[in-house]
Amino acid sequence: MPQYDAAAVRERLTAERDRLRSDIYERTEGAEAVLPVDPLNDSGGMASDQADDADAMADAERNQAIIRNSQALLEQVNAALARLDAGTYGICANCGKEINPRRLERAPYATLCIDCQAKLER
Ligand SMILES: [Zn+2]
Repeated sequence: MPQYDAAAVRERLTAERDRLRSDIYERTEGAEAVLPVDPLNDSGGMASDQADDADAMADAERNQAIIRNSQALLEQVNAALARLDAGTYGICANCGKEINPRRLERAPYATLCIDCQAKLER
């Protein structure tokens, strides 16, 4: 018997997937509109322009990092949904034991039991 409520898990993962998708969409669409244009400050000198550029670059890089992170998470969520469909959800991909339900509660897309995860991180 599964130790988890498949319908509840699916609902949670689907909500997470939708949230990540819209977050990635907003960040990728928004990234193009974020280029700073300030015609009033055209004669403001190189130094401040470069500072603005540097800020914009830092923002873009931070945004990229968040997008990459969200995409990686999205893949894990999709993989978890696929395991749910395949009936292998909640089973450790390494040792085949059931993953502790409390662990799944905290990390619904975990693929390893706590022991295997600990071994991996050691
Ligand atoms: Zn394991």
